[in-house]
Amino acid sequence: MSLTEFQRIARFFKPLSDGFPGAFGLGDDAAAFTPPAGQEVVITTDAMTEGVHFMRKQGVQSIAARLMRSNLSDLAAKGAEPYAYLLTTALPKDVEDDWLQVFSQTLAEDQKRYGGFLIGGDSIRTEGLITLSITMLGLVPKGQLMRRKTKHEVTASSNLSVYVSGTIGDSALGLKLTQGQKFPGLSPEDENYLKQRHLKPEPRLDVAKAIRPFAKACIDISDGLVADVGHIAQQSNAEIMLQAEKIPLSNVTKKLCNSQPDLFETVITGGEDYELAFVVEATEESLLTIAASKVNAPLTKIGTLRAGKAGDVQVLDKQGSIIPLKHGGWTHF
Ligand code: ADP
Ligand code: MG
Repeated sequence: MSLTEFQRIARFFKPLSDGFPGAFGLGDDAAAFTPPAGQEVVITTDAMTEGVHFMRKQGVQSIAARLMRSNLSDLAAKGAEPYAYLLTTALPKDVEDDWLQVFSQTLAEDQKRYGGFLIGGDSIRTEGLITLSITMLGLVPKGQLMRRKTKHEVTASSNLSVYVSGTIGDSALGLKLTQGQKFPGLSPEDENYLKQRHLKPEPRLDVAKAIRPFAKACIDISDGLVADVGHIAQQSNAEIMLQAEKIPLSNVTKKLCNSQPDLFETVITGGEDYELAFVVEATEESLLTIAASKVNAPLTKIGTLRAGKAGDVQVLDKQGSIIPLKHGGWTHF
């Protein structure tokens, strides 16, 4: 016999609200809170559906972690720290209690790791595929919210550097591996590393916290490095030049790009790195060294943001020639 809807909420979800008084133990019609003084509330939502955003066979742990972490990454992009979240589950009949047990366990682990409490949601049955949604609230000290748009207008005298956290492209290659593609020359450890980067991405909350006092713009890389820095360029009414050889790659991805150079395009345009790309005033780059010493990922300068054609992104090789990208680089119009 499987549990009823209310039993499932009481068993699997209520414990995730412990520690947040305004969640009322998930036993009321709604949650309530007063934001702490001096903080701004940031809110974001992400939904995922089976067959499009995940496969059931990738495992419930990865499904739960990606649902949670895609939201956390959006908070990181804004410089916010996790505070509370709402969860909506639309589950077909064949999803058993065991699945929910591991699902809620994984959310609990991420709450412990990153912070935040479950404060409500909705549970519906569906005749279709699994659909999940999290709406997440974060807090950022007033004045430190980062945007895609630079804090000041970009002019001819601006001197702005573009940075990225971590390494780029692992997730896109990991996705190909989980889809059954083979790359020659990879050890089982290499393969596992790339797959994990896709299946359990790391939201860069620590990076966000370290850079938010001085970063001029920020975005999390979910659509691919080139497209996402394009959003910064577009919103800042400016253009971005990236230097290909500066883009940080893991050893595994470097090895693959050396043996199959055409993979580099996948690396810089593939999605779901969940790293942060951000803009720093060149005169404030010393602040970065301090920030870098506080975080778990390298922070690497990959290019510049400057006055020019709004939204343009060009990727240059070592000789300074533009690398043609199949999708024409990234131009909005
Ligand atoms: P109502 O019918 O008044 O909308 P529900 O029966 O849908 O209330 O939900 C009862 C309580 O359980 C509410 O506090 C709601 O926020 C919570 N809840 C329902 N589903 C979930 C879920 N998937 N995750 C977290 N909390 C949930
Ligand atoms: Mg109600």
